Amino acid sequence: MVQKAEKIWFDGELVDWDAAQVHVLTHTLHYGVGVFEGIRCYKGSDGRPGIVRLREHVERLFDSARAVEMEIPFSQDEITKAIEQTVQVNNLAEGYIRPLAFIGDGVMGVHPGSNPVRVIIATWPWGAYLGDDALQKGIRVRTSSFSRHHVNVMMTKAKVCGNYVNSVLAKREAVADGYDEALMLDVDGYVAEATGENIFIVKHGVLKTPPLGPILGGITRDCLITLARDMGYSVIEQRFTRDELYNAEEAFFCGTAAEVTPIREVDRRQIGAGQAGPVTQLLQQEYFRVVRGENLKYAGWLHHFDS
Ligand code: PMP
Repeated sequence: MVQKAEKIWFDGELVDWDAAQVHVLTHTLHYGVGVFEGIRCYKGSDGRPGIVRLREHVERLFDSARAVEMEIPFSQDEITKAIEQTVQVNNLAEGYIRPLAFIGDGVMGVHPGSNPVRVIIATWPWGAYLGDDALQKGIRVRTSSFSRHHVNVMMTKAKVCGNYVNSVLAKREAVADGYDEALMLDVDGYVAEATGENIFIVKHGVLKTPPLGPILGGITRDCLITLARDMGYSVIEQRFTRDELYNAEEAFFCGTAAEVTPIREVDRRQIGAGQAGPVTQLLQQEYFRVVRGENLKYAGWLHHFDS
């Protein structure tokens, strides 16, 4: 169960958690056109929350909205301030922030007419997304029978609620079969991403990750490309096949929720030594140092605010 916080920001006001309600004819509930973000903040050594790459997350929220022709009735600055306010009122030093813009009730039918676009921001504490052991020991993954969306079927760069039906189907299938996470291939059969994470493989000290075709342009993916290059590794953005993944020395998923999660097995094949590989471990350590404000070189990735 998600742990209740005190307040949820709802259309410009902070309301009690239990009072943040909508009508059952809310358009997004029926047709899936809503956009959201997943953001984490981490407690720095000074005790203050640092929100990871807030500007990029707010920008992606607005880009997602534009892609599906939703006009968010607030500015990016207003949403940024609202996120600060929600984190502060809920005393969230470390946890997860979920802004969601959705189409409210009014007319029904696929065309949402002039139904209002509404916005909420919720926060909750959230530990390791893929399980407590996942970050150290790595996870077991299966290739999904579901493909990642084709770029002309969904707006794949946008974090649209309806896109996640695909993720839920893949995740349920993987979990029911005893795996931790699903790997989705694109419609051409190349490795794409997971249900809420991007993927990297490592071979001969070179990192490879699928290019921004049908995948979500992950902000963690972007952080790790920069960190890895700054640490002296080559990073290639190039399509690869599942057999290349099977034969990688290391593989990991990354995302705001999943952070840097090693993959130890794919489709019953052990990856590398079947544990978190050395490059994965280094990147994971560095990522956690950065988000906790312990590496000042990347201090610009953290958003602080005065309480
Ligand atoms: N792919 C998908 C499908 C996702 O839902 C997410 C989570 N937002 C990611 C990748 C990772 O993106 P980010 O690093 O920006 O959280």
